[in-house]
Amino acid sequence: MTKNEIRSCEDALRLLAAYIDRELPGPTDAKVEHHLETCRSCYSRAEFEKRLKASLAELGSEPVRPALAERVNTLIRTFSVAGGD
Ligand SMILES: [Zn+2]
Repeated sequence: MTKNEIRSCEDALRLLAAYIDRELPGPTDAKVEHHLETCRSCYSRAEFEKRLKASLAELGSEPVRPALAERVNTLIRTFSVAGGD
């Protein structure tokens, strides 16, 4: 399974959405986790995605309220500034 080896942040980020949704098979999941433990940039990105997902989940079936949309936008701006790159 060396094909699925994570060699770069690009590889890790490609798997990130599935990782957060816990859709990855165990060995791949472990590789992403290991990368996040050793890569601050991808770790921040993963935390951001998780928070974003949680915010969206909070919405549930409620209509989108401007205040919450603003919160998500702030989160995105915060990440853009802190993340650099
Ligand atoms: Zn990385």
